[in-house]
Amino acid sequence: MRISELRISGSGLIVDGVDLEVSSGETVGLVGESGSGKSLTARAATGLLPKGLRATGSVTLDGRELLGARERVWRSVRGTRVSLLMQDPFAMLNPLRTAGAHVAESLRGRRDRAEVLRRLAEVGIDDPDVAGRHPFQLSGGMRQRVALAAALAADPGLLIADEPTTALDATTQHEILMLIRGLQRARGMGVLLITHDLRVAFELCDRVAVMYAGRIVEQGPPAEMAKAPAHPYTAGLLAAVPTVERRLPRLIGIRGSVPSAAQVSATCAFAARCDQATSECAHARPPLRELRPERLTACLHEVRPRTRVEEGGQERRQVTGDEVLRVTGLRRTYGSHVALGGVSLHVNRGESVGVVGGSGSGKTTLARCVLGLVRPDSGTIELADPVRPRHQLVQCVFQDPSTSLNPALTVGATLTEAAAQGPAKDRLTPAELLELVGLPVAYARRRPAGLSGGERQRVAIARALSVRPALLICDEPVASLDVSVQAHVLELLREVGTSMLFITHDLAVVRQMADRLVVLARGEVVESGDTAEVLDAPAHAYTRRLVASVPAAP
Ligand code: SF4
Repeated sequence: MRISELRISGSGLIVDGVDLEVSSGETVGLVGESGSGKSLTARAATGLLPKGLRATGSVTLDGRELLGARERVWRSVRGTRVSLLMQDPFAMLNPLRTAGAHVAESLRGRRDRAEVLRRLAEVGIDDPDVAGRHPFQLSGGMRQRVALAAALAADPGLLIADEPTTALDATTQHEILMLIRGLQRARGMGVLLITHDLRVAFELCDRVAVMYAGRIVEQGPPAEMAKAPAHPYTAGLLAAVPTVERRLPRLIGIRGSVPSAAQVSATCAFAARCDQATSECAHARPPLRELRPERLTACLHEVRPRTRVEEGGQERRQVTGDEVLRVTGLRRTYGSHVALGGVSLHVNRGESVGVVGGSGSGKTTLARCVLGLVRPDSGTIELADPVRPRHQLVQCVFQDPSTSLNPALTVGATLTEAAAQGPAKDRLTPAELLELVGLPVAYARRRPAGLSGGERQRVAIARALSVRPALLICDEPVASLDVSVQAHVLELLREVGTSMLFITHDLAVVRQMADRLVVLARGEVVESGDTAEVLDAPAHAYTRRLVASVPAAP
């Protein structure tokens, strides 16, 4: 497939001149943060642009122009020569059809049961009974395998996989990615992998294109890019990606947030956030130029190396012996499902304790029990002070700040309202809270819609800190943030120094955040200890699987 000068616009410009090629037998990664235009590029390349958007330029498959083709033409191409695998298999699978029926309807030759079972076995489904099951009867990973088998049933030459593993557990994610790689090699097909996760793209792809504000800013083989990025944005992303190998003294993000393509169409798209910008950068749009064969950059200048580690970062927090939380024998069931099967743990004052595990491990139920949102069947929860109300002792920062903040209230009103729930003595003002989380005081007048994702999460942290809690529960606090913003929020949480129960599926993030680690599997603690010791030498098979599933640091 060759994409040339692709422009996509709706009410404004979204994708601004993308050129990309995928050959047979090659895996190309298209990496970008939210709003970069990567998913719309995939949609345009499969004739599935949402209504109201227009695309110009060219998309050719084996030399045949497809952009602007009628739906009838696209239908003859989609599934047979190019297939799309999406993040949510529910969006691709018909809830009324069985797994086997999905595969059978896309087969071109034999459609008998033996062939369907062979195709399911190809994606790692060896149990023949699965063919007779409906999507809702399958786990997330199993559904994605069925969707992959259906996408490949007509033996397309190109698979476009759009965030195919983002909704899955770390271990399942790893299995599906390895499966895609194995199938790509066995079939010699081309794969265009669209992802926000630099680590995934760098581990899996032969070539990576980095997209920013609607255009490609750098392209090349991942090993070379990791060693010497040729665009400051790539360098910034690489420096911001947390690593599971060691705890970094300081996490470095990229200042500001991603602009829209329309805002930066006449300049370097990255100029407002770039530490190396010169006056030239704001007056011309740098073309994607060739540094050497296969190595392209849209930067006018040579890139200064950026280091992950800055001097002066704090290595460990001040931990005292007194406890702010002790959970003993916590048990909670839902019917026959055991969400928590007798969990015990504690958090000392000033300490950050990480809780990791896959979906269904019980992490969120644990948090909800400590917050008082779920009543445990048995077990005890002791907080720092038996007299102070629970909401003053423990507060939570949730994953998605856009749903956890009231859209009708200004930031100032939200913080005033939250602080009023705390003790009257030494009550923090909105200005003090905004300063604490590194936001301008003028933001008190804004509403959540006027903030970026990272800014909203800072406000959510300020709100949680407004009652001066003894314990902060962070439930996947950066899972919905772009990597360039994630580092700022993690660094902020490290700086505020409140005792934390840090819940995450991301081992690289927990390495940066937790002094001690508790590994949960099916509602039970299977391993716990010093974070470095657990991650460097995991003792339990489940922890070993989790660690092995983390993509290598670029
Ligand atoms: S062209 Fe200028 S502003 Fe753009 S990335 Fe390069 S140095 Fe930075």
